[in-house]
Amino acid sequence: PPAETPQIVIDAHGLPYLNSKLPVRKRVADLVSRMSLAEKAGQMTQAERGAVGTPGDIATYGLGSLLSGGGSTPTPNTPEGWAKMIDSFQLRAQATRFQIPLIYGVDAVHGHNNLVGATVLPHNIGIGATRDPGLARKAGAVTAAEVRATGIPWDFAPCLCVTRDERWGRSYESFGEDPALVESMETIIQGLQGARSGKDLADGDKVLATAKHFVGDGGTAYGSSSTGTYTIDQGVTRVTRQQLEAVHLAPYREAVERGVGSVMPSYSSLDLLGDGRGPVKMHARADMINGLLKDRMGFDGFVISDWAGIDQIPGDYASDVRTAVDAGVDMIMVPYAYQDFHATLVDEVKAGRISEGRVADAVSRILTQKFRLGLFEKPYADTGGASRIGSAGHRAVAREAAAESQVLLKNSGGVLPLKKAQKVYVAGSNADDIGNQSGGWTVTWQGSSGDITPGTTILEAMRKNAAHLTYSKDASAPTDRYDAGVVVVGETPYAEGVGDVGNGHDLELSAGDKAAVDRVCSAMKCAVLIVSGRPQLIGDRLDGIDALVASWLPGTEGDGVADVLYGKRPFSGQLPVTWPRSLAQLPINVGDAAYDPQFPYGWGLTTLGKVPHGGATTLKVLAAAARAAERAGAREAGRALVTRARLIVQQRAGQHITAAVAKPFADADHLLLSGRYGAAVDRLTAAYRAAPRES
Ligand code: BGC
Repeated sequence: PPAETPQIVIDAHGLPYLNSKLPVRKRVADLVSRMSLAEKAGQMTQAERGAVGTPGDIATYGLGSLLSGGGSTPTPNTPEGWAKMIDSFQLRAQATRFQIPLIYGVDAVHGHNNLVGATVLPHNIGIGATRDPGLARKAGAVTAAEVRATGIPWDFAPCLCVTRDERWGRSYESFGEDPALVESMETIIQGLQGARSGKDLADGDKVLATAKHFVGDGGTAYGSSSTGTYTIDQGVTRVTRQQLEAVHLAPYREAVERGVGSVMPSYSSLDLLGDGRGPVKMHARADMINGLLKDRMGFDGFVISDWAGIDQIPGDYASDVRTAVDAGVDMIMVPYAYQDFHATLVDEVKAGRISEGRVADAVSRILTQKFRLGLFEKPYADTGGASRIGSAGHRAVAREAAAESQVLLKNSGGVLPLKKAQKVYVAGSNADDIGNQSGGWTVTWQGSSGDITPGTTILEAMRKNAAHLTYSKDASAPTDRYDAGVVVVGETPYAEGVGDVGNGHDLELSAGDKAAVDRVCSAMKCAVLIVSGRPQLIGDRLDGIDALVASWLPGTEGDGVADVLYGKRPFSGQLPVTWPRSLAQLPINVGDAAYDPQFPYGWGLTTLGKVPHGGATTLKVLAAAARAAERAGAREAGRALVTRARLIVQQRAGQHITAAVAKPFADADHLLLSGRYGAAVDRLTAAYRAAPRES
């Protein structure tokens, strides 16, 4: 145990830091001035809750934080269970001399996905497909309300990774491959935290957000290790300074502007070409964390390490601790080695190898957020909002998100939308599986197939719409005389790594899925839905498929998928990542010199009742109107005009997506996201001219 075991006092009241009328800055300064080194080291320590040997350790070490991590021990599965568990830990923290509350953290990356019965929203890749910043904000608000109602004030989300190679198993945690798209979805931070000023954080339905993983997590090279193993997850991002700034750093500027409360460094290494250092682990990069994030960007929240992230820094444990703390990591997710970490940190400071000033800075940053969250005033769970968990209102938001996230890639012969009176044949491994449609980070870290949490499967939702429906998972039932077939295929859940739990990182559909597609599509008009965290290779099989939909990981509300299938809402999603033709094309991203994907970034057909008419002249008029919208700062109008232009081009191109169409098309999406509506329509006009006419 630490030398300076904090003594327990009954009443710490009367001290300035407990006066909620004082500005946070003053409260922090007062408290820090009173704390011992051991107490400060405790604040910088985050342990996995299942690792805490005896609950008394919380007070003994003065732990600043606990988490239920991805790879943690089983979690409670009721709201009350969570609240009681966290309160029992908080009680220990309240038995320390300054009664500094714990800040409890979880990964709620698509709703409160840790809790059975919570609303599970589409994973970020689907949110990116919606291109709807208002929806991203609502998704954040739903998540925050459900998380806080179980006594948890801190969420390790959103992931701001800009995924550049979909062989990465975390691609679905990304809003997309274009930094401008990721930036536009960062309204989710306001949904989670409330106002930029932080004034809403103490409300019972907001949480502190975490922008992760800083920086370059989505840019790691595939198969780059000397041993030949796939290091794409936690691997090396090799970029020039300019590429780093333009692709991976841009979303963090936005997050800092939005007042994000914490940032998590990436497991990956950054190899900044030209700096002569070679690959250096992000947890050790003072130039990036202290220099760039804190000093240059002005981030004033705190930096939380990733799970045992400091252990990956070369050198002995004391040097890991020194390097990370000096690089600017304020709190360390230990998660099991809390005793070692605490002792080492104290020793290093005593020996003068870590400065007291640095420790005071780290602790001040952490305490600032605890004060802003109102934890000193209300340390215990306020379950007043628990009735909103999994509520109809929240599920309606998830349903809307699921609907908006569906990307219609192909629709020849107008197979979609389906009509109620049609006889439909439904098949495929992912038609009737809540676990598969929710993906990883659902109930457990890796997620799992099957009935893991209440929700509506795509099949169940379709049944509500169809007068005649036959379901045959493996498509073995006779296929004659149906009006349409819907085959729902894709991935099984995984988290982190390369995602090779089910079908592998080769992005191939399983043999069973392929067989189901072939059987149904050769027998009737068919729509294929791909429920997956990333594009799956379709190749020439596309020719035999009438309609193709990228459904991503829609979450618990399969009704949203049925809404667009049955035309209750139009398809409106757009590809957040490029859809490759073959594995050999990867990595493939918008802006690449040779860009010839199966479907370009930004692609997405619509089933809006009226197909927009128009040609070059209409586009000219649209461009002028878009410029006017741009000048007036009329975002909605600007977006609508660009969408109109996009549809005109798609109508002309039909399925003839040549490189000449794809490139300007993707550029236009990028311009749209940066608010350059006029230029976006100009690019689309170029695509229109290049497009071969759909006969
Ligand atoms: C992941 C983080 C996550 C942490 C805590 C790590 O494995 O990389 O994204 O926040 O675990 O669960």
